[in-house]
Amino acid sequence: MRRPVYDVTTLKKAATEIQRLAFYDPLTGLANRLLLRDRLKQAMIISKRNGIEGALLFIDLDNFKTLNDTQGHDVGDLLLKQVAQRLESCVRRCDTVARFGGDEFVIILEELSNQRDDAEEQAGIIGLKILAAFNDDYQLNSNSYQCTPSIGITLFNGYEKSIDDPMKQADIAMYQAKESGRNKICFFNSQMQINIHARIELEKELHTALEENQFRLFYQSQVRNTGEVVGAEALIRWQHPQRGLLLPVEFILLAEKSELIISIDLWVLKQACIQLKLWENQTNTQSLKLSVNISAKHFAQENFVNQVIEIIHFYSVRAEKLKIEIVESLLIENIEESIDKMNELRAIGVRFSIDDFGTGYSSLSYLTRLPLDQLKIDKSFIRHIGHQPFNGVIVQTVIGMAESLGIEVIAEGVETEMQRAFLEENRCYLYQGYLFSKPVPIEAFLVFDK
Ligand code: C2E
Ligand code: MG
Ligand code: MG
Repeated sequence: MRRPVYDVTTLKKAATEIQRLAFYDPLTGLANRLLLRDRLKQAMIISKRNGIEGALLFIDLDNFKTLNDTQGHDVGDLLLKQVAQRLESCVRRCDTVARFGGDEFVIILEELSNQRDDAEEQAGIIGLKILAAFNDDYQLNSNSYQCTPSIGITLFNGYEKSIDDPMKQADIAMYQAKESGRNKICFFNSQMQINIHARIELEKELHTALEENQFRLFYQSQVRNTGEVVGAEALIRWQHPQRGLLLPVEFILLAEKSELIISIDLWVLKQACIQLKLWENQTNTQSLKLSVNISAKHFAQENFVNQVIEIIHFYSVRAEKLKIEIVESLLIENIEESIDKMNELRAIGVRFSIDDFGTGYSSLSYLTRLPLDQLKIDKSFIRHIGHQPFNGVIVQTVIGMAESLGIEVIAEGVETEMQRAFLEENRCYLYQGYLFSKPVPIEAFLVFDK
C-alpha cells in the first residue's frame, strides 16, 4: 500500500500559521491575549526566581471610539497598526507588546532592577518614551491624526497569587490616568484598590438607596430682586443609613458612570412633579416654579423626551412650572439632537436653563441656536465678585449676552449682599444662594416661604 506523501515544508508552514493565528493578533501582528497571559506567567515565575522586578503597562488610546465612529473601522484599523509599531519601537526585544483587545494594549517589561524604586523609574522611563512616541501625528490615508494614550503601570515580582492581580492593577492605574485628564502615566498604588472597593460598595448601596427610598429632595429658593421667592431648585441628598446625609458630590459622579443616574433622575423628576402639584393647589405657592438637574447621560437617552412628558401627564402638573437644568457641554456635543429634544419639551411648556454657565464651551454661535429660557451664572464667578475684577467682567458679559438673546439670567451661589448688589446693578434680577437660603427639606422651605 502506498503511503500518502506529505510535503514537509507545507506542513511546517501550516503549523507556523496555526501558531500565528492562535497566539498573535491578526491586525497588528502583536501577541494576543492568550500569549500575553502565558508570557506574563513566565515573567512572574522568572522574576520570583531571580528576585527582580517586572512591570506591566496597560495602554488605552484616548478617544479611539470617536475616530472609529466618525471615520469608519478601516481608518481605526490603520491607526491601531501604526500604534502597534510605535509601541514595539519603545521596548527591548525581551519585552512583550500585546494587543489586549479593541484599542487596549499591554506591555510586559522584564528584567528590571531588583530594587523597587529603580524598577519603578525604569518602567516610568518607558512610559514617557511611549507618550513621546505618540507625539508625532499619525498619517491615516491622506489625513493626519493626533492620538494620545493613557497608561497605567504596576510592578510585579512574582509574589502575587495570580496573573490577574497585576492585570487588574495596571487596568485600575490606567483608569486613574484617564480620570486625571488623559495622555498621562499613572502608577498603581494600594490606595487606588481601596478606592475601587469603596466605589463598588457605594454602587451596591446606591441600588439599595433607590429600592429603599433613601433619597431626599432639598429645595433652595430662587429669589427676585424684589425679595419675592419665585421658585426653587430641587437638589438631591442621600440619607445614608450609616453615613448620614450625603451631598451629591459623594455619589452623583459615580451614579453617572452607570445607568443608575437615569433611575435617580427619574425619581427626582417624579418627586418634583408631586411637589409642584402640591404647590399648585395652594394659593400662596401656586406660582412657584421648580428646577431640576438632569444629567448628560439621561438627556442623551432616546426616550428622554417621552419619559418627561409621561411623568408630567401622570402627575398632571402645569409643564410651565418645571425647569430642566442641563450643563452646557452636553448640549453642544450633539447640538441638533439637543435642539430637537428641547423643542419637543418646550412645545408642552417645559423650560430650559443652562447650569454652571461659563464653565463650559460658551460660544455665542451655538447659544443662539439653543431654545433656552435661562442662563445660570456659575457660582465660581459670583464668589470672586469684588475680589477679582475679571470675574466681574465675565458676569457682566453673561448678563449682556442673555439680555441680547432675550433669555432670563439667574446667579447661583450668591452669598453676600455685596454680590447681590453688584448683580442687581448689572441688571441680573434673579438670585439663588446662601444669602437667601441653603437647600432645605420641604418642611423648612414652606416655613421660609410664609
Ligand atoms: P448645581 O446644579 O450647580 O447646584 C448648585 C449647588 O450649589 C448645590 O450644591 C447648592 O447646594 C450649592 N449652593 C447653593 N447656594 C450656594 C452658595 O451660596 N454658596 C455655595 N458655595 N454653594 C451654594 P449641591 O446640592 O451639593 O449639588 C451639587 C451638584 O450636584 C449640583 O450642582 C448638580 O450638578 C448635582 N445635583 C444635585 N442634585 C441633583 C439631581 O437631582 N440630579 C442630578 N443629576 N444632579 C444633581
Ligand atoms: Mg443646578
Ligand atoms: Mg450650578
